[in-house]
Amino acid sequence: MLPLMEDFYTIQGEGFYQGHAAYFIRLGGCDVGCVWCDVKESWDASAHPLVSVTEMADRARSSGTEIVVITGGEPVMYDLTELTTALKHAGLKTNIETSGVYPLSGVWDWVCFSPKKFKTPHPGIYSQANELKVIVYNKSDFAWAEEHAAQVNPQCELFLQPEWTKEKEMLPLIIEYVKSNPRWKVSLQIHKYMNIP
Ligand code: SF4
Repeated sequence: MLPLMEDFYTIQGEGFYQGHAAYFIRLGGCDVGCVWCDVKESWDASAHPLVSVTEMADRARSSGTEIVVITGGEPVMYDLTELTTALKHAGLKTNIETSGVYPLSGVWDWVCFSPKKFKTPHPGIYSQANELKVIVYNKSDFAWAEEHAAQVNPQCELFLQPEWTKEKEMLPLIIEYVKSNPRWKVSLQIHKYMNIP
């Protein structure tokens, strides 16, 4: 049983799987405390009902999706072994979006590591990340992004994504940065343009 804030079938709007249909499972609970967090209602785990991993996997499978994205909140607060095992038994691909602040458990097809300045990541996440997605809120975040990029595997995909409320200001800087540093790619929250969750 895990606290479930919401689950829904939509289009992944960000990062490497941008544009792919995906079933999102948003677990409740987060102690990272990002000032610009757009899902603050997820923070209090006790505000969300406990749902069995079997029920979550059944709901995901019946949606018709191929990919499930486990997000939050901060999903690595929990042991995700049983949830990912149930999803794999249902024939689904398991992706996670995490700030990596606790050791990662479970069986994953894709790990999107999105570090936050508000809580230091657990060192184990760097070798497990398939994707590093850094949210750019101000100019100093480029140097901060490079600090993390220096610690991930060479194959790890690198994305810079403007924080939604700072997009007008930060996107032109990101574009120039990526042109000068083509190891990085731009990630935009296209689900917000499409008005979908
Ligand atoms: S890690 Fe995610 S859910 Fe937690 S405070 Fe930051 S943006 Fe919000």
